[in-house]
Amino acid sequence: MHPAATRSSQQTIDQFGKYVIPNYKRYPVTLVHGEGSYVWDAEGKRYLDLFPGWGCDILGHCPPLVVKAIQRQVQHLIHIPNTWYTEAQGDFAEAIVKHSFGKVFFANSGTEANEGAIKLARLHYANNSGGTSKYRVISFANGFHGRTFGSVTATAQPKYHEGLGPLLPGFRYAPYNDLEAVKSLVDDETCAILLEPVQGEGGVNIADEGFLKGLRELCDQRDMLLIFDEVQTGMGRTGDWFGYQNTGIQPDIMTLAKGLAGGVACGAFVCQDHIAPSLRPGMHASTFGGNPLAMAAGIATMMTIEEEGLLENCRKMSDRFCQHFQALKSKLPIIKDVRARGMMIGVELNIPATPAVAKCMDRGVLINATHDTVVRLLPALNITAEQVDEGCKVIAETLEVMAQEA
Ligand SMILES: *Cc1c(COP(=O)(O)O)cnc(C)c1O
Repeated sequence: MHPAATRSSQQTIDQFGKYVIPNYKRYPVTLVHGEGSYVWDAEGKRYLDLFPGWGCDILGHCPPLVVKAIQRQVQHLIHIPNTWYTEAQGDFAEAIVKHSFGKVFFANSGTEANEGAIKLARLHYANNSGGTSKYRVISFANGFHGRTFGSVTATAQPKYHEGLGPLLPGFRYAPYNDLEAVKSLVDDETCAILLEPVQGEGGVNIADEGFLKGLRELCDQRDMLLIFDEVQTGMGRTGDWFGYQNTGIQPDIMTLAKGLAGGVACGAFVCQDHIAPSLRPGMHASTFGGNPLAMAAGIATMMTIEEEGLLENCRKMSDRFCQHFQALKSKLPIIKDVRARGMMIGVELNIPATPAVAKCMDRGVLINATHDTVVRLLPALNITAEQVDEGCKVIAETLEVMAQEA
């Protein structure tokens, strides 16, 4: 048993059976401890985690500076409402804006950040009679924006809509990377275009530069807001601080969460200065948003990325993963495509990818499968070359076995 465990994995699994709503498919393992890219289960088995915290643990598990910052903050203030000022919220907002643009609103999750961005877009075009002159939002096939009603409506994947209707009115869906399709959907009531610069859950699909430039021009011509959902691509994930920064364009609003506070629940949206006043006092709020604990964790996360040169490490390790997977692709016809932007890596197979997850877990490596056929990795920005090699070896051997069985 691991020293941090108080009982076996199975005992906890039985407890969940009695008390927890069974809406998640969980692996039959209880995790009890993590350090960087390693995590341990109750039985003491160690795993190399190439998908730490579903992308939230952007610095791996329990990054030391984040742990210290939380310990320091927790003895002064855990939570106070947004009717007061805190140094922590000011400092984190300043740090984000200095690496991006505009002004920040803090929430607690990705879906909440996107809800706020959609509300802001409609409010920005509100007319004097209290209604909105433009309300329609265009989003994209295979995108993912969250689970609350606005965000799930924006998520153009039928499997997430089943049984939930009626959804939020005013959404239209276009194929990703298809500018002409977007143009044909825009009308005078369209207020915003919402997309991920790299689709994560949809299978690590990278937006073409020309497509993004075209969307930017279209939004300028038709007076609409361009919203980037950077919940997954933000905070250094792509090798830049934010995903838009290597696209040559800037969105009007960007939403953040996942890695934003190094694993502590935190979401945010950033908007250009001239849009910020459209979020009038009383029109939007979040009780826990911007709480000192999350803010302290966020500041420490950004400091770690900066001081340890992790954007550079992210780009280097991305190349290393790609070299491994390209070499594997030339040997294994079951690999259709290898796509990567920083520490967002997708290996598309022409067979189902899901069996690879359990097979790798048996051998002590944690990965994810998405969109049926894509092996997806969201490794920590501070992963080492040795860990990349170790993980790729297990994945390669696993895919070789799957290719023989296929
Ligand atoms: C995970 C994710 C979300 C939803 O975030 P939650 O914190 O689970 O609400 C939204 N957008 C993108 C791009 C994501 O990857």
